[in-house]
Amino acid sequence: MSKQDLELVSVTKRYGTTIAVDAINYRFKADSYTCLLGPSGCGKSSTLRMIAGHESISEGSIVLDGRDISDLPPAQRGTAMMFQNYALFPHLSVLDNVAFSLKMKSVDTAKRHTQAREMLDLVDLTSLADRLPDQLSGGQQQRVALARALITRPRALLLDEPLSALDPFLRIRMRTELRNLQKELGISFIHVTHGQDEALALADEIIVMNNAVIEQSGSARDVFNAPQTRFVAQFMGGHNVIALPSGHFAIRADAVSVTEPSKGSIEGNVTAIEYQGTHVSLSARITGDQDILALIPDGEFFANPHHPGDQIGLHWDATDQHKLTA
Ligand code: ADP
Ligand code: MG
Repeated sequence: MSKQDLELVSVTKRYGTTIAVDAINYRFKADSYTCLLGPSGCGKSSTLRMIAGHESISEGSIVLDGRDISDLPPAQRGTAMMFQNYALFPHLSVLDNVAFSLKMKSVDTAKRHTQAREMLDLVDLTSLADRLPDQLSGGQQQRVALARALITRPRALLLDEPLSALDPFLRIRMRTELRNLQKELGISFIHVTHGQDEALALADEIIVMNNAVIEQSGSARDVFNAPQTRFVAQFMGGHNVIALPSGHFAIRADAVSVTEPSKGSIEGNVTAIEYQGTHVSLSARITGDQDILALIPDGEFFANPHHPGDQIGLHWDATDQHKLTA
């Protein structure tokens, strides 16, 4: 194991009889952006909180930079956590919020303010150093929370649904900032989200969790292009999962094309049309309970539009159909 790795070794979390995380193993790539992705309740936050030291580990261990950090208090792990609700102190200025952890370590005022200003500079908040948190927008509060976590110089920054409180426009802007910041700092970011768009946009590596276990992990492109299970194909979206006598297969919705019914095509009946701007999504029923989704570029669709109730032909290349293992 290289020195900079963060590794989960058979990590389990139980709350009474609930198994929130079930013996997961994972070696995080050093200095990369990793998203822990999965539906609500699958164990993402428990995993993150165990890494941070805010939750005890029921079984297994967590290793960072070559040392077992499983029993260390949060401040001694080399990790820092940014919380969903930011948890800023309302009576402290932006500068003092950012400097707070240094105050806890008895760093003198001049020194901690110097470091806090460096962090504010990093997140572009220098001009707001003297404000109170309630005099800031949501996006600005979030950057204060980021600066406050980064001042401890963590090896890994842990973020639990950091964008969920922001409006959609700001969310997209902040995710670009997070991504740039991670590359600039060259440390690991581990970001929990239930949004597959967010994970695809941000992550070098994606870990898909379901029911307390890791269902699949890999680069964002691999996870999207080559889902291994029905769950991953359905959760990532943009895929059809079809049952054939030889098993289940995934086909990307944008690999499906639509024509008039013809020899060699699969016949379907259009059940829904949804305009999505750059694409039109067309759903068609091919058998009793099997729907196929086709994502058609808008120009192509409107050159030859279809309507609910139309009989159509559906096509895809055999090479675009890949077998799922479960
Ligand atoms: P996620 O972040 O993916 O939504 P969590 O890690 O928060 O999932 O929760 C995983 C499971 O553990 C859920 O079934 C949840 O109800 C349970 N859980 C989480 N925290 C606690 C707790 N403090 N006490 C008891 N059960 C908990
Ligand atoms: Mg959670």
